[in-house]
Amino acid sequence: MQASKPLVLCFSGHDPGGGAGIHADIEAIAAQGGHALTVITAHTVQDSVDVRRVSPVAPIFMAAQTEALLADCRVAAIKIGLLGDAAQIPHILEAIERCRVPVVLDPVLRAGGGTALASAALVEALRTQLIPRVSVLTPNAAEARRLAPGAQSLDDCAQQLRRLGAGGVLITGGDEPGDEVCNHWHGADGARDYRWPRIPAQFHGAGCTLAATLAARLALGDALATALQRAQRDTHAALAAAYAVGQGRLIPRRIAGGA
Ligand code: PLP
Repeated sequence: MQASKPLVLCFSGHDPGGGAGIHADIEAIAAQGGHALTVITAHTVQDSVDVRRVSPVAPIFMAAQTEALLADCRVAAIKIGLLGDAAQIPHILEAIERCRVPVVLDPVLRAGGGTALASAALVEALRTQLIPRVSVLTPNAAEARRLAPGAQSLDDCAQQLRRLGAGGVLITGGDEPGDEVCNHWHGADGARDYRWPRIPAQFHGAGCTLAATLAARLALGDALATALQRAQRDTHAALAAAYAVGQGRLIPRRIAGGA
C-alpha cells in the first residue's frame, strides 16, 4: 500500500527537553505534512541551557530498527543529525544505499551551550565516509570551519565540503555576529546568500528544525531551490514564535498553536 504521507527516515539524538533532535524532526516534518520514521542515535542528559552527557545507541540496535522500517516502508528522504559515534556510520550508509533518496545531514559537532558533541574520530568519519554521500549538508559556521580545516573563508569551507562530495552545502550564519543572519549556499547551481533579519534571542534546536524541514520539503517533491527557500522561511517563522520550556534558550514553535 502507498504511504499516505511522504516518509522521512531520521537518524537523530534524543533531547528529553524536546527542543532539538528527534522531537524537532518529528514536529518539523509533521508541520510540512510528512511523517518521521525515527532511529535514535544517542540518548542525552541536557536542559535548555546545555548538554551534560551523551550515551550512544548500539549500532546493531539501530541497524535492526532500520531494517524493520525499510522492509515495511518506502522512504522519500533521509535526515541525519547528532551521531553517537563513528561506528554508527556504516549502518547509515547502508540505509542511504538502499533508499536512494535525498539525504540531508546536519553535522552536530557542538551544543549551543558549548559542550562538544563530536570526537576527532567522528569528525574524520563524517568527512571521509558520510559527507561524500549526502545531497545537502547544513553546518553552522563553526561546524563548517571544523569540517574544512585550513579554509580561509566560509566560501572556501563550502567549496572544500563540496569537493568531499556533498551535493550542496548550506552554511547557516545564526552563530555569526551581525543584524542579519546570512546563510551561504553552494551547490551544482552555483553560490548564493540568503539574508534573514536576526531575531534577538538564543535558540535551542534551530539547526535540527531547518534540516528536518528541508528533508520534508524534498520528500514532498519540491525542487531543491524551492525546498531551500521554504525550509529557511518556515524555520525563521518558527524562531520568531519560539517559546520557553526552561531557564535557558527558546525552542522553535514548529507546530502552530498555543500562547
Ligand atoms: N541535543 C541533540 C539531540 C541535538 O540533536 C542537538 C543539535 O542538533 C543538540 C542537543 C544541540 O542543539 P543546539 O545547538 O541547538 O542547542
